[in-house]
Amino acid sequence: MTLSEKDTLYNWHPYTQHKTAFSHPVIIKGQGALLWDEHGKEFIDAIASWWVNPFGHSNTYLAQAIYNQLTQLEHVLFGGFTHEPVIRLSEKLSQILPSNQKKFFYSDNGSTAVEVAIKASLQYFYNKGQKRTKIIAFENAFHGDTFGAMAASGISFFTDAFQGSLLEVVRVPVPTEGNETKTLKALKALLETNEYAAFIFEPLVQGAAGMVMYSATVLDQLIALAKEYQVFTIADEVMTGFGKTGKNFACDYLEQQPDMMCLSKALTGGTIPMAITSFTQEIFDAFYDDDTNKALFHGHTFTANPTGCAAALAAIELLQTEEIQGNINQVNQHHLAFAERIKNHPKVQSTRVLGVIFALEIKVEGKQDYYGTLRNTLYDFFIRKGIILRPVGNIIYILPPYIINDVQLAQVYSTIEEALTLI
Ligand SMILES: *Cc1c(COP(=O)(O)O)cnc(C)c1O
Repeated sequence: MTLSEKDTLYNWHPYTQHKTAFSHPVIIKGQGALLWDEHGKEFIDAIASWWVNPFGHSNTYLAQAIYNQLTQLEHVLFGGFTHEPVIRLSEKLSQILPSNQKKFFYSDNGSTAVEVAIKASLQYFYNKGQKRTKIIAFENAFHGDTFGAMAASGISFFTDAFQGSLLEVVRVPVPTEGNETKTLKALKALLETNEYAAFIFEPLVQGAAGMVMYSATVLDQLIALAKEYQVFTIADEVMTGFGKTGKNFACDYLEQQPDMMCLSKALTGGTIPMAITSFTQEIFDAFYDDDTNKALFHGHTFTANPTGCAAALAAIELLQTEEIQGNINQVNQHHLAFAERIKNHPKVQSTRVLGVIFALEIKVEGKQDYYGTLRNTLYDFFIRKGIILRPVGNIIYILPPYIINDVQLAQVYSTIEEALTLI
C-alpha cells in the first residue's frame, strides 16, 4: 500500500468530506516557503500552513532553540512548578503586548485560548455575585471549534449541528466600511441590557470569514463603548498576532486596549502547538482571594510546556529582527502593487491588503458556499499548479510566510491571474 492509500485507510482529516475529497498529497519536506510531496512535486505554501509559519519551514534557528530546550528540560508540569522559559516568555510578552496586559495563562491552541478568555469573563462576574452569562460577537466570526469558541463563531455550517447545546452568544454586524454606525448602535443596544460578560472580536481582520477587514477607528469606538458598560473586550489575535497585519499585533493600531488577548498560531513560529490568553491585572484580581473556589479552575496537561516556550522566545526574537520586519514590509509592498494591478479586472469585485494579508473577492451572482463549487474549482487548480491557497466562497486570500521571496510571490500572483481567466 502507498502512503496515500494508508492515509485514506486510517486518517480522518479536518473539515473534510472524505467521500468527495481527493487523496491528500503526502508532504515529506519543507524549506522556506516551499513544501515537497513524495513524488517531488513542489508547492509554494502561500497560506503559511494555516497562518502559523512566518519564518519558513524547517527554520534552523527555531530548530536549534527547540533542540537545546529538549535536551535541558523537555517538560515539567505547570501545576505547582515553574521554569525559566515560561518566565522569560511572559516577561517578553509583557514588553510587547499592549501595556495593560499583565497576566498570562497558557494552553495548547487557539480554541483553548478563547475558551479560557470566555470562562474567565463569565467567572469574573460570578465571583463578584453578578449574573452576566452571555457573550457578544461579530457575525461571521471564527474563534475556534471547541464548544465555547464554537459558540462565539458565526460561520453557521461549522456550528449548525450543535445549536441548542451552545453558550448564548448574540451577534452584531461586522463594521466594514459603511456599516460602522449600524454596528455601534447594535452594540450599544446589547450593552444597555447588562446581561453580557464580554465582547469578543478578531481585531481588524476576520480571517476565516475570508480576510474581511474593518477600521481601527471603529474598533476603538466599539471597545470604548464596551468599557463604558464594564463589558470585557477580548481581542482574538490568534490569526492577526505576531506581525501579520504589519505591526506585532492588530491591537497596536488602536488607541484603546482590550481587556484580554488570545494568541496562538504564529506564537511558536509554526513549530509547537501552544497558546496564551493574556489578562489585565483587574481581571486576575477578581480571582485572587482566600476562597479557593474563586480560582480559575482550568488547565491543560501540557500547559506552558517548556519546549513550546523556548520556541516562542526564539520566534519573537526572529520577529523583532530588522530582516524579518523588512520581509513583512516587502510582502506588503508587493501585495499593494498586485492589488492595484488586479483591481480593475472584470472578474474582480474588490481587493484588500493589510500587512502580509491580501484578499481578492471574485464577482459572482448570489452568495457562494464556503466550501462550494467555485471554491473547490479554485482550490484544485491552485494545487495542480503547486500553489497552496485555500479560497473561501468567492474569496481568494494570500497569507504567506514573511520570508517568501519575490519570485515565489510573483508566481502566486500570476497563478491567481490565470485562475481568473478560467472562471
Ligand atoms: C485559527 C483560529 C482560532 C482557533 O485556533 P485553533 O488553534 O485552530 O484551535 C481561533 N481564533 C482565530 C481568530 C483563528 O484564526
